[in-house]
Amino acid sequence: MGTLFTVSDYFGSLVFDDRVMKAHLSADVYHTLKKTIDEGAKLDIGVANAVADAMKDWAVSKGATHYTHWFQPLTGITAEKHDSFISGSPDGGVIMEFSGKELIKGEPDASSFPSGGLRATFEARGYTAWDPTSYAFIKGKTLCIPTAFCSYDGNALDKKTPLLRSMEALNRQALRVLKLFGNEDVKCVRPSVGPEQEYFLITKEMYEKRPDLRFTGRTLFGAKPPKGQEMDDHYFGAIKPAVAAFMEDLNEELWKLGIPAKTEHNEVAPAQHELAPIYETVNIATDHNQLTMEMMQKVAARHGLVCLLHEKPFAGVNGSGKHNNWSLSTDTGKNLLSPGDTPYENAQFLLFLCAVIKAVDDYQDLLRIAVATAGNDHRLGANEAPPAVVSIFLGDELSAVLKAIETDTPYEGAKKTRVKLGVDVLPKFNRDNTDRNRTSPFAFTGNKFEFRMLGSSNSIACTNIMLNSAVAESLKIYADRLEGAEDFEQALHEMIKKTIKDHKHIIFNGNGYDESWTDVATKERGLLNYRTTPDCMPHLLDKKNVDMLMSHKVYTEAELKSRCDIMLENYCKAVVIEANTMVGMARTQIAPAIERYAADVAKSAGFKKSLDPDISCGYEAGLVKRLSKLTDEIAAKTDELEDALLSLHDAGDIIRESEMIRDEVLPVMSELRLPCDEAERLTEKSYWPFPTYADILFSVN
Ligand code: ADP
Ligand code: MG
Repeated sequence: MGTLFTVSDYFGSLVFDDRVMKAHLSADVYHTLKKTIDEGAKLDIGVANAVADAMKDWAVSKGATHYTHWFQPLTGITAEKHDSFISGSPDGGVIMEFSGKELIKGEPDASSFPSGGLRATFEARGYTAWDPTSYAFIKGKTLCIPTAFCSYDGNALDKKTPLLRSMEALNRQALRVLKLFGNEDVKCVRPSVGPEQEYFLITKEMYEKRPDLRFTGRTLFGAKPPKGQEMDDHYFGAIKPAVAAFMEDLNEELWKLGIPAKTEHNEVAPAQHELAPIYETVNIATDHNQLTMEMMQKVAARHGLVCLLHEKPFAGVNGSGKHNNWSLSTDTGKNLLSPGDTPYENAQFLLFLCAVIKAVDDYQDLLRIAVATAGNDHRLGANEAPPAVVSIFLGDELSAVLKAIETDTPYEGAKKTRVKLGVDVLPKFNRDNTDRNRTSPFAFTGNKFEFRMLGSSNSIACTNIMLNSAVAESLKIYADRLEGAEDFEQALHEMIKKTIKDHKHIIFNGNGYDESWTDVATKERGLLNYRTTPDCMPHLLDKKNVDMLMSHKVYTEAELKSRCDIMLENYCKAVVIEANTMVGMARTQIAPAIERYAADVAKSAGFKKSLDPDISCGYEAGLVKRLSKLTDEIAAKTDELEDALLSLHDAGDIIRESEMIRDEVLPVMSELRLPCDEAERLTEKSYWPFPTYADILFSVN
């Protein structure tokens, strides 16, 4: 940087955070706004005007000229529409203006965002509403105001609205349970999340030569490189200078935005890396993760690199995921998933633990649905990824504690004491014991749960909406029972016991990548295994799911229907674009390249024969024949793929279309890929029309 600034000097310098609010708002306005942020109190227009004015002055002093309502439509990325602060003044000049009304509510022309039929075209305009719980920030020359996005009749068209609703539901139910344990001082319970983000970095030069990467974010062709991740030498290996420069620059940008980027390291695959921030309240963590993904791409471009966030950019190479580390904390600073010191704390801990176990078991399908995209389907069940089966890892010690409770038998670890809640002290769990299993999709890691099925490009909103809601439902059932109990301790003990009995089939401490596990999970334990998006998505509308999500006011039925449609549409669109890209590359690049090479090989044979008709030219003949067979196959499979795409027009509805894509399009894409990849191995490199896996994966130095 050349300057001597330390991180603490510029951390959050582009954020209208608490420090700035205190300095720029009158005491009255500050306190009213604070009440809104902490307790959701309504904000009157006078206060909004004062906040808007201060925000504008602060933003302008930082060089901003525009503002935007920043929101998260169902496309998966964030959206913004910029308006300048400029307003004409009578003397012919301009003044910078920004009103409370403009801060609170925006009306983007949103007709091009997916709404799944929630919005008729005549009322295409939705509105955005300020979310004061997530700080405004400056990006480039624009003041960005985090907002929720709704249709005029109040239906959510985004991911933030249901996320905020799910936090409210969880807070409501968690407070009921905490009261029963005598925690009268707790006013608020919030889920906190630390999302670990994986990504690939490749050079822009390689990227631009691959239509598949440019159009779809992943390679659709490519033979496996001679050296992949077999040696495991990339993981935690030394970070290359170009990558280090990128990371340094990225950290600086993130820190300025108040995003607590903390650790970064290489991942398993060549060119793969990871960034983890310090955890934050989930709606902020969600905004920050979206911004992080955006910044990764921006900063990479400045370094002549491209950041790939696709879940499976390279077949046969480790894919990229995101780990959603989730826990619950109180406004009094207590982590509810941390085992306590006293019997009472431990009983409370066990109840919250059970609430999560029950939630994950009852709503396995919703968790799978939350991470379902065309991209992530390639990853779930593949190399290094968790299988599509949702199971929970607790570690041996905690599992033994639960078993002792379930069977009313002594627990070894506690020196043969009977584990009875509220009476005996449970042993302190050794954190290290619980942090070993990297193959579990849902692992307890000492004081939080780590859900590992998210794809690297997923918004974490979807996962946390489902997790918050499902845990709220468990807690509601517990609170309903316990509030009316005559003997609280007895009822508590029985309920924990019952939860363990009913839900122990989802607890699995073994190796999740073991091939036999899927069989055991599905056949013996009856766990769900939805391998693809079309397999799971329609279950969003199963009665039990709709009932639960509606009863906690997280979604309306109309919203759920529209979301199911949109997710399936997104799936279909993604695969259709891939298939069309394949057809184009196979026809106009791959087949012609093979032809050119074969022709040159044949020409060389002809030349040899002209020298001496007795030269056998067996090598040339064999090679040309093999290549010719492959081009025939490529031509046939390309035609077949095109036919499969055409037949989609007869699908009738989106569910059927997604099934046809799963059963008739994706398999042909794999079949078309085979002869192409084989031809790549046979063709002299200079003829090949785009960079190979080895070129791409080892391009950054
Ligand atoms: P790893 O998973 O690589 O072992 P850590 O366990 O240190 O790494 O943390 C991973 C992520 O979990 C980080 O983003 C961290 O901030 C987050 N984390 C730690 N404690 C909590 C918590 N109580 N709630 C939510 N996330 C947490
Ligand atoms: Mg982790």
